[in-house]
Amino acid sequence: MKLPTEMVLDSPGGEVKDAAQVEDFETLKRPIEASMGQTSLVMPHASANVPTFVQPDRTMKGIVSATATVQAALPPLDVSFDRYYVLHDGKVHHPLGAGSYIYKKEYISSHIRYLGLPLPTTGVDKIPHRFLPPSTLVIHIGAQPNNSPHIGTIVVFTLAFLIARDMKKYYADLHQKADLSTELTAWIDNFKVLVQLDLVDTAPHNEEGCVRDGINYQRSQRFTKAYHRLLPDYEEIMKSAAAFVGGGIPYKLTNQEAVASIPSVPRIIEAIVRDRERLGPELAPETGALAMRSACPHKGCGLAEKHGRKNKYSISSSGSAIIEFYCPNHGYHSVDSSNPKQVAKLEFNTPLRNLVRAFAYGIQTAESREAARNAVAHGGTPTRELIHMRVTGSDYTGLYSEQLLWRQLILLKPETSSLAIQPPVIAYAPLIQDWAGSKLSKSLYVDKGAYEYLRAAGMGYMLSFDEMKRQGKDHTILFREVERWLDDPRKLFRPYSIDYLHRIFEQESAKEEVINKMREKKEVV
Ligand SMILES: [Zn+2]
Repeated sequence: MKLPTEMVLDSPGGEVKDAAQVEDFETLKRPIEASMGQTSLVMPHASANVPTFVQPDRTMKGIVSATATVQAALPPLDVSFDRYYVLHDGKVHHPLGAGSYIYKKEYISSHIRYLGLPLPTTGVDKIPHRFLPPSTLVIHIGAQPNNSPHIGTIVVFTLAFLIARDMKKYYADLHQKADLSTELTAWIDNFKVLVQLDLVDTAPHNEEGCVRDGINYQRSQRFTKAYHRLLPDYEEIMKSAAAFVGGGIPYKLTNQEAVASIPSVPRIIEAIVRDRERLGPELAPETGALAMRSACPHKGCGLAEKHGRKNKYSISSSGSAIIEFYCPNHGYHSVDSSNPKQVAKLEFNTPLRNLVRAFAYGIQTAESREAARNAVAHGGTPTRELIHMRVTGSDYTGLYSEQLLWRQLILLKPETSSLAIQPPVIAYAPLIQDWAGSKLSKSLYVDKGAYEYLRAAGMGYMLSFDEMKRQGKDHTILFREVERWLDDPRKLFRPYSIDYLHRIFEQESAKEEVINKMREKKEVV
C-alpha cells in the first residue's frame, strides 16, 4: 500500500484560496482517506508520537486521528526505530536574501558575465569590429562512481544541462531581439556549450584498502575498475538529461587522468610542492600533509597511501618536483613533475583535486584566449577559446570554498606567477536534506546501512537511480522540478528536503495518472 509520509493541514477556516494549495491538499488527502477506510482503528503505536498536551478542536482532532491511523497502517515497526510525522500547511516559502536576492532575475546573464562571454552593452551591441574569438563553454560536473547516483547527484547533473540550455537560449533570444553587430552574430552562431562529467575514478575502492602501522592505504577505483558496472546508470542519466533539454547540448564522460594531463598541471604541482609547509596543514588540518598519491607501479599491487603522510618531496636542479610515494609492500617509488606521463597518474584528495583542476581549467581559459588573440594579431584565423565552469552541490560553499579554494588561488599565485588564470565560476545546486536537515549522504547509505526508514516509507528511490528505476518512478519529474528552480532562480539558493521532493513525485505521478486515464477514455470513445 502506498502511503503519504507527510500530512497537510487545511487552512484554519477550511477555505483554501490558492489553486496550488488546493492541488497539494487534494493530492495528499485522497490516499490518507483511502488508508483510513481500509485500516482498523486499533492504533498500537499512536500514543508514542501524538502530543498529549493539545486540546484539539474538531479539525485538529481529525488530523491527529488521521496521523495515528496512517501510522497504524504502516508495516509493523522494527524495534530499532520509530516513525515520526510532520504536520504542515503545504505552503512552500522562498524568502529572499543574500544570493537569492542578487540573482533572482539575472542568474544566467551573471554567469555569462563572470565567464567573460560577450554581452551587448545596452540591449544593442554598440561595439562593432570588436575581437570575438569562437568560444566553447565546458560545464563540468563530477561524481565518485562508488554507487548508483542518488537524488542529490541527479539534481546537480540536471542543473548543469539546464544551465547549458539556458546559456544557448540567452544568446538565441538576443539574436532575435537585438540589433547586433556582425561580429557578435557570427560569435553566437559559432558558440558551443557542452556538459562534461568528470568521473573521480581515483576515489578509493573501499574493500581494497588496508591499514599498516596506523597508516591507511587504498586501491583506487581506477585500479580495481569496480566502477565499470555502475557506469551505465551515469550514462543513462546523462543521456536522459541531454534529451530533456532538447538534444542540443552534447556531453562527454572523462576520468581524472584527463584533468592531470592538462599541460599546466606539472607547473601547478611544482607550485604546490614548493608551498607544501603552509598548504599541507591548511588543506588537511588533521594530518598536515598534502594528500597526493600515486598507485604502486608493482604488477598487481596498486596500493597508495591515502593521506600522503609518508610522502617525501624535493626540487630537482632543473626546478621540477620529485615526489616519493610509499608502498607498504614494495617501498618507495617516485614521480618527477617533468614527466607528463607520471604526472597524469597522480591522485589527489577532494580539496587538493579541487584546487589543481581550478588552476588547470582557469589557466587553460586564459591561455586559449591569449592564443586566439595572438593568432589574429599575426593575421591568422582565431583559434577557439575554451571556457570552463562547474556545477556542484551546495555543501561545497562557505568555509570550504573560501579557505580551501579561493584563499589558495590567491596565496599560490606568486608560485605560479608566470601563469595567467581566469577565476573559477561555480554554480551551486541546492542541497538535498533528510528530515533533520542533514545532507542525504551516499557514503552513509552505502557503508553504514543508514536510511532504513526511507525504505520502509517507500522512499528508497531517493538513494539510488537503480532503485528509482526498480520502483518505476519517472525521473523526469525531478528534471522538471529542477527546471522550475532555474526558471525562478531564487529557488536555487536554498536546500530541499527529501520529504518535499517525495511530495513532488507523488503529486506529479498522480497528475500523470489522471492524464493517462483521460487519454485512455478518449481512445475508447
Ligand atoms: Zn606495492
